[in-house]
Amino acid sequence: MTCSTCPYCGVGCGVVVSEDPTLSLVGDTNHPANQGKLCIKGTHLIDTLEVQDHRLLYPSIRGERISWGAAIEAVAGGFQRTIDHFGSDSVAFYLSGQLLTEDYYVANKLMKGFIGSANVDTNSRLCMSSAVAAHKRAFGEDVVPCDYSDLDQCDLIVLVGSNTAWAHPVLYQRIAQRKADGDLTVVVIDPRETETTAIADLHLPLMSGSDVSLFNGLLSFLSQNGAIDRDFIANATTGFDDAIQAAEEDAKRVSLETGLSAQEIESFYRLFLKHPNVITFYSQGVNQSTQGTDKANAIINCHLATGRIGKPGAGPFSITGQPNAMGGREVGGMANQLAAHMDFDEASIDRVGRFWNAANMAQGPGLKAVDMFDAVADGQIKAIWIMGTNPAISLPNAKKVRAALERCPFVVVSDCVEKTDTAKFADVLLPALGWGEKDGTVTNSERCVSRQRGFLDAPGLARADWRIMSDVALQMGYGEAFQYSGVHEVFAEHVALTDFENDGRRLLNLRHMNVQSRDDYDALTPTQWPVEARPFSAGRFSTPTGRANIVPVQQNVVPALKADELVFNTGRLRDQWHTMTRTGYARKLFNQTRWAQLDIHPKDAQARQIEACDLVEVSNALGALRYVANVTESQNEGAVFAPIHWTHEFSNQACVSDLVEARLDPNSGQPESKLSAVSVKRREVQSWVALVSRHRLDTNDLDAQGFDYWSISPVGEHWASLIARTSSSDFSSLLPLTDIVSYQFGHSKRMLGRTMGRVEWLACVESEASELPTIEHLSAQLDADVADWRRLASSGLGEVDTSPMICSCFEVSEDQIVAAVDRGCCSIEALGVELKCGTNCGSCVPQLSQYLVHAKDIKVGLG
Ligand code: SF4
Repeated sequence: MTCSTCPYCGVGCGVVVSEDPTLSLVGDTNHPANQGKLCIKGTHLIDTLEVQDHRLLYPSIRGERISWGAAIEAVAGGFQRTIDHFGSDSVAFYLSGQLLTEDYYVANKLMKGFIGSANVDTNSRLCMSSAVAAHKRAFGEDVVPCDYSDLDQCDLIVLVGSNTAWAHPVLYQRIAQRKADGDLTVVVIDPRETETTAIADLHLPLMSGSDVSLFNGLLSFLSQNGAIDRDFIANATTGFDDAIQAAEEDAKRVSLETGLSAQEIESFYRLFLKHPNVITFYSQGVNQSTQGTDKANAIINCHLATGRIGKPGAGPFSITGQPNAMGGREVGGMANQLAAHMDFDEASIDRVGRFWNAANMAQGPGLKAVDMFDAVADGQIKAIWIMGTNPAISLPNAKKVRAALERCPFVVVSDCVEKTDTAKFADVLLPALGWGEKDGTVTNSERCVSRQRGFLDAPGLARADWRIMSDVALQMGYGEAFQYSGVHEVFAEHVALTDFENDGRRLLNLRHMNVQSRDDYDALTPTQWPVEARPFSAGRFSTPTGRANIVPVQQNVVPALKADELVFNTGRLRDQWHTMTRTGYARKLFNQTRWAQLDIHPKDAQARQIEACDLVEVSNALGALRYVANVTESQNEGAVFAPIHWTHEFSNQACVSDLVEARLDPNSGQPESKLSAVSVKRREVQSWVALVSRHRLDTNDLDAQGFDYWSISPVGEHWASLIARTSSSDFSSLLPLTDIVSYQFGHSKRMLGRTMGRVEWLACVESEASELPTIEHLSAQLDADVADWRRLASSGLGEVDTSPMICSCFEVSEDQIVAAVDRGCCSIEALGVELKCGTNCGSCVPQLSQYLVHAKDIKVGLG
């Protein structure tokens, strides 16, 4: 048995893996983050390990397999030559919240202490850097003031810009349980009606980007209604007068700016006034904005001004997206931090330099993510090492990033996956260990440091990231500073740096996790910092004065849309993760949403003659994307929503970052990902093809056929494809040579291909996508032992259920749920007894609740 942590979101759930008789996994009942619970992604982690054919197994240079020795020499030589010719700032590392803390530590030390540049940044820049900047402005240190136990102790929870039900499901379940127990009030602030709003006492569908106005109005309201904690302000804060002055200006226009009614606004403000034990829980809807830092400070201001911080059940609570964004922050693996919560002041540079025994310390901040790739584009950076992330897809204006990587003289990519959109640009490709293979630590959203433990052998020649970087550092001549005998020594050094000349000035101090040996390291149990007391409980902060800053902020003007434009909003789905490099191979994780699709409100759809399951094109000056339309009342009017997950490995034109401009928050450098302007129009399609085949179609072949749209996903033991055809395109040429049998079934054309008596693929052709049978149905036909293909052709495909799959674990569809409700199932428990839905990971429970409330109000879906 191995205790480890889930590698997906910032909740940081503990898992227990058993290897006997076969690999299996359950939630760790002893882990404080989840107490045994897991969501659908965590539940199906083992499924993602089964797929070995997409793993990167060997080092290579431009496609030629090489030894590790040659690879290390090539990377060290490439970087050293670039530094020698163009200086330290001509090179960069781009890291990932998927890396372990030890990986982050070595990368940060190598770049900032020995190469002498601070050009080391991370994809966490896209996720929570606005929260970091706000914490530093308010508290003087990047410290999250709350922990998960506060969710059990608050009376009111305000969820801002967070579809918690999908993005942080285990925390959502904890909140929903308290709500069900009847002792919690929930406010959801989100432009969209999401699965999270199912438990909201009040949902405020504010206009995108108007959060500062709403919270400044709240601060003013609290001030006018006697809720300001004057003692706390006098003893523990600074800046209240300026902040309240700025807030009162905004307070005059809250309804105008947010689009909310005066009654909605007052209802929220009165709830906040009434409940001193309030947690304001915020996520990417706040952070991913040109004003993300101000939004977070507007929230924090309300807590500081009322003294609702540093106490059980009260405080502003930023929840991170990635499993180890927090570990990266602790190490300092961002371009504007030095290390271990120290900045680039003279004393800190000297202190860290002495600790590392490094003579070539970076003297100031480096380039943040978007600026870093701009510098690659303009030739300032000539060598970049990208680790465990996919910037060719995930950074804004991704086409520009791809062009930059194409031109960059030296690109190194370390990953555990062979074919990513970024790996295509690698001069040197290095195989890294993945989850289940690597060892290290991660920190979750409540500052709890846990071990990730390996239980599988390294596949091929894959190595740990910290080891690869240490070997490169040794090759570059940095000697003893990188001679670690094991990962425990990296962790021990990180712990020692957090404690080095700390004197209590930095709350980040991990001295209680000091390890002397590998055995100590292996025995580490989840530990939250600071150990002594809850952050800020004594009313002392990490600023030089010890006082928190109440930062004056004001609502920026949100750019107006042109006539006929819509807001392009982006985010996560419940069952997928990032750019699908892991979840894209777990078939059950496509049960909820199989194809790249766009949510659009019925009125916006009607105005554009768009119907459910039509092909739609979304465009702006940066490019055009194509999706299947999902017409739904839950999407707010005036905006559309697309998931962030689809890459060119899974659909032809569905990479959201191709339409997202690189507009940045000036304080954090975090890009705006929720508020791009786009046009949306219907595209005529000659016919739609739903296809299941025993082999995955080649994406290059699909492109060569010029299909208007294609999307691929795994189903059962097969692969599914949805294709929108023009008159000249032909899908059968993409498949292995087979005898093709065409037959008519009702009004639709159906085809199958067979070789040696075995049906290799099945396809249905319809003029409307909504007429297609479900992929699961086709897949079952392909699975059947069809001794006589003629019988298959003549029997057709029978009754089909085209409704969406709601419960991925037990594959229960919307139609089945609605039918059960119609038969009298009137509770989650009753549905579970009848259909089993919601009885495993519980991720579908928010949707089940919605069916119970709106049993008749079902969406039109595409199977
Ligand atoms: Fe993993 Fe789900 Fe837990 Fe997040 S909530 S850590 S994805 S199991």
